Amino acid sequence: MIQLKNLSKSYRVDGKDIPALKRIDLNIEAGEIFGVIGHSGAGKSTLIRLINLLERPSGGTVLLDDIDLTTLSTAELRLERQKIGMIFQHFNLLSAKTVANNIAFPLQVAGRLNKTQIEQRVAELLELVGLSEHADKYPAQLSGGQKQRVGIARALANNPKLLLCDEATSALDPQTTQSVLQLLLEINQKLNLTIVLITHEMDVIRTVCDRVAVIDGGEIVEMGPVTQVFLHP
Ligand code: ADP
Ligand code: ADP
Repeated sequence: MIQLKNLSKSYRVDGKDIPALKRIDLNIEAGEIFGVIGHSGAGKSTLIRLINLLERPSGGTVLLDDIDLTTLSTAELRLERQKIGMIFQHFNLLSAKTVANNIAFPLQVAGRLNKTQIEQRVAELLELVGLSEHADKYPAQLSGGQKQRVGIARALANNPKLLLCDEATSALDPQTTQSVLQLLLEINQKLNLTIVLITHEMDVIRTVCDRVAVIDGGEIVEMGPVTQVFLHP
């Protein structure tokens, strides 16, 4: 589903090109939960931001369902991006909107559904993430775990095929982390959603991922099924 070919990214700092990612080759299959783990500065965020082309690569290609995202126009890319949902460490919810309106927002932007259909879809998403009773609350009234559930519902609003998770549990305590990870597993199975998650926490990878890539200094230094890469618990 995702093919990264010879992908590299450098940032220009003080007139010099500093490599953040070097010649990454990676295939992620439809329906799998793929983890990327590495220390701070290893290149994880850069990698995830290249997958949805929030960053332009310095070289190489990003294929999503065999479409090369690096060659698309802005308008074409906007359409392709609707296949991708994203959740974040700090949730990135709109504080002046209620839970329901946060979830409705991407549906309104996409402009495919009318008001009644949006309401139905929002109700369905609230149910999926277990927040039906909190529809009319504001983000500030929610716990961290509940906020991330809103983030997940919002990310799924337009039925993406791929969910990108950027340190999505790093701001949560261990127990809340587990419940959010269980929700991700449930969604992965129920919707056959492909999930790519980046984290610095090995437990997160162990709990949910099928395969993992270990990234260090902008390179993949190990990759394989989680049980093989982390032989020793
Ligand atoms: P991680 O997510 O694993 O912490 P990043 O992808 O954020 O790593 O960073 C990888 C490298 O790229 C680091 O050396 C970082 O300093 C550098 N980097 C990331 N973003 C930028 C940027 N916008 N400008 C300059 N350097 C950057
Ligand atoms: P408005 O509230 O003026 O219609 P907003 O942008 O604030 O516009 O609201 C967005 C949409 O969020 C609503 O049209 C509705 O579809 C959805 N929404 C709001 N509250 C709920 C709710 N409790 N359950 C389901 N959908 C809701």
